[in-house]
Amino acid sequence: MNLEIEKLPEFDNHELVSFFFDKKTGLKGFLAIHNTNLGPALGATRFWHYQSEEEALLDALRLSRGMAYKCALARLPYGGGKGVIMADEKMTKTPEMIRAYAKVIDNLHGRFYTGEDVGMNKNDVRLMAEKTSYVIGKIPNKSDNPPYWTALGVLSAALAGLEEINGIPQVRNTTFAIKGLGKVGSQLCKMVIENGGSVIAADINSRKTKLATKNFPSIKIVSPSVIHRQEVDIFASCALGGCLNQITIPELKCKVVCGGANNQLANPEDGVRLHRRKILYIPDYLANSGGLINVVAELRPGGYSQSWVEKKCHQIQATTKKIISLSRRYNKPTSVVADRLAEKMFNGKSR
Ligand code: NAD
Repeated sequence: MNLEIEKLPEFDNHELVSFFFDKKTGLKGFLAIHNTNLGPALGATRFWHYQSEEEALLDALRLSRGMAYKCALARLPYGGGKGVIMADEKMTKTPEMIRAYAKVIDNLHGRFYTGEDVGMNKNDVRLMAEKTSYVIGKIPNKSDNPPYWTALGVLSAALAGLEEINGIPQVRNTTFAIKGLGKVGSQLCKMVIENGGSVIAADINSRKTKLATKNFPSIKIVSPSVIHRQEVDIFASCALGGCLNQITIPELKCKVVCGGANNQLANPEDGVRLHRRKILYIPDYLANSGGLINVVAELRPGGYSQSWVEKKCHQIQATTKKIISLSRRYNKPTSVVADRLAEKMFNGKSR
């Protein structure tokens, strides 16, 4: 690989980009830190089979940048980081490999905290914690359970959106179209129904839709190909990224987009497209920051506190209101306003 990292479009003046390799265990990957202006960098570690080193590096650069924005808007005193471990085709993972990775983290002496992302699990977190104290998301039934809090954060953000369109921050008598009934989507579904709203939902996995119908008899299930076309108050994507693009945006019939999925905009121009269509887009990294808030609660000086997590998740509503109001005042897409606000927060210090 002959890469000029600073010339890659995903490179955003990252503070640190590091390649790690351990021949004995087969460990190989990248670690990126976007900035530590507000505090140590945070970012869960991904274990994934990448087609090339470049692909893995780009993922680390992009995801660490996203974490910096997410921490800033959630008003958490942390920066953005990301670790990606390159798996082989068979996704071979051994305890020795994970322990070797933990030593890489430990050598940063607290400049980077990590936890569980795609391809990692609670056992990996436990193994890492044997070798380093810079691991989070490890308190059973508390900080190790982000999806509930992610969904609560999405609901808080949605309330601000509902206030903007209906004049009242209330779920009752509104309808949500939820794409993806996994860990976050199913929690959100429960919260919406418990608060007097209706849910139309879709999932590519029929086991998930059957379970949802059993748990929530009032739910209406539609095909994943039409879920974004439902005439609803809120379209909540809780599946994969890239769901808002030049094909889907013209087809939307919702008033607000507010969901748990990461990287919902396929391109930055899609934020502009939504703005032109007068569809209120709540930036994904703001709406889905509840899970992160729950994990970092473990690092608080007094230790994990559920009431602190609840308070911070409810604050997402106020931050969303602020972004909506700035977007209206300057006639700028909410995606742009949110980015500028986050940048102001972490650049305000030293960047
Ligand atoms: P999950 O794997 O439990 O659920 C995702 C669901 O989406 C699955 O049921 C899957 O079958 C479904 N799905 C995939 N493609 C689909 C499609 N095209 N149409 C309909 N359904 C589809 O994952 P999760 O933990 O619930 O996370 C959901 C999203 O939220 C992801 O983008 C994740 O990165 C993001 N997120 C999750 C958390 C968290 O706390 N788990 C926090 C922040 C962001």
